[in-house]
This record gives sequence, structure tokens and C-alpha cells, in this order.
Amino acid sequence: MAPLDPPPEAIYESIEVAEAHIQQWAEAHGYATVRKTSVCDKRGEIRKIWVICDKGGKIRSIKPPVPATADQQQGETKPRKAGSRKTGCEFTLTITRTSEIQWEVAIITATHNHEPSVNASTHPTHRKLTTNEENVVNAMIERTAKPRDILLALKQLNPYTHYYRTGSG
Ligand SMILES: [Zn+2]
Repeated sequence: MAPLDPPPEAIYESIEVAEAHIQQWAEAHGYATVRKTSVCDKRGEIRKIWVICDKGGKIRSIKPPVPATADQQQGETKPRKAGSRKTGCEFTLTITRTSEIQWEVAIITATHNHEPSVNASTHPTHRKLTTNEENVVNAMIERTAKPRDILLALKQLNPYTHYYRTGSG
């Protein structure tokens, strides 16, 4: 598995499945994807979406570039603005509806202009729990369940869960 590989140009039965597969693929390859824009048909249903790297887009940071090593040392403790993460990466793909039950993935720009993430869980995109997962966690916390049991429950719900224990307990 090479880092930063683009996902396969496959056909999926729904846009949700296509997006989910792409996000899982990206996470496994050291990057994260976000939906950029979408176009709808006359009925107001999504016809095509553009998905980009989460480091894509305009570089908003006005700070001069610092060497990667110094940046990493400082970056651990203080929170960084979302804008400072961007590198202007041009990785882009589209998911296009080709029929009622076919969504086709096409890679527009396959390359990234940055190194893969060492730890995929640092991506804010991947730290988000789904509403369903949050409900499970909250319900179990109310019953004073152990973190380990919560994690097990989430894994049953979704093998790709992004619930991580925080703290040292
Ligand atoms: Zn990228």
C-alpha cells in the first residue's frame, strides 16, 4: 500500500457509499478528503460532486514557512488554525451519477504536494463520530460504561469507527 495513492476509479451504488469508501481509502493512505462542490439536476438531486484533499484550497496562513521539524515540535501542544494546515494541494476527484444506481469515481488530479500524515487520526475529518455513534457513546457514558466497552460497541456498529480513547486512564 503506497502512501497518497488515489482511490480506484470504481462504480458505486450510491453517493454515500462512494464517499465513505474514498474517505476510508484516503485515511489508509495518509490523507483525508472533503467534499468541495456539488451540482444538482433539475429535480434538485445531486448529479456530481467534487472531492478534494483536506489540504487543498487556498493557503491562508500569512506566516513565513518554517522547517518541518521545528513545526512538528511546536505543533504538538498548541492548537493550530484550520487554515494553516492547507498546502494548496490539488488532488481532486469527481463522483458522477451515470444512472439511478451508478456513481462513477473519476480521478482528476492524482498527485499531492505534501507528505502523508504520520497518524491519520490527526485529521479533524476522521475524528468526527457519526450521530449514531455519538448516541451510543452518550448512552453508555450515562450508564457509566467502561471506555473499552464503548469502543467494542462502536466497533460492532461500524468497524471503521473513529472513536479513540483520550487521556491516560
Ligand atoms: Zn493532498
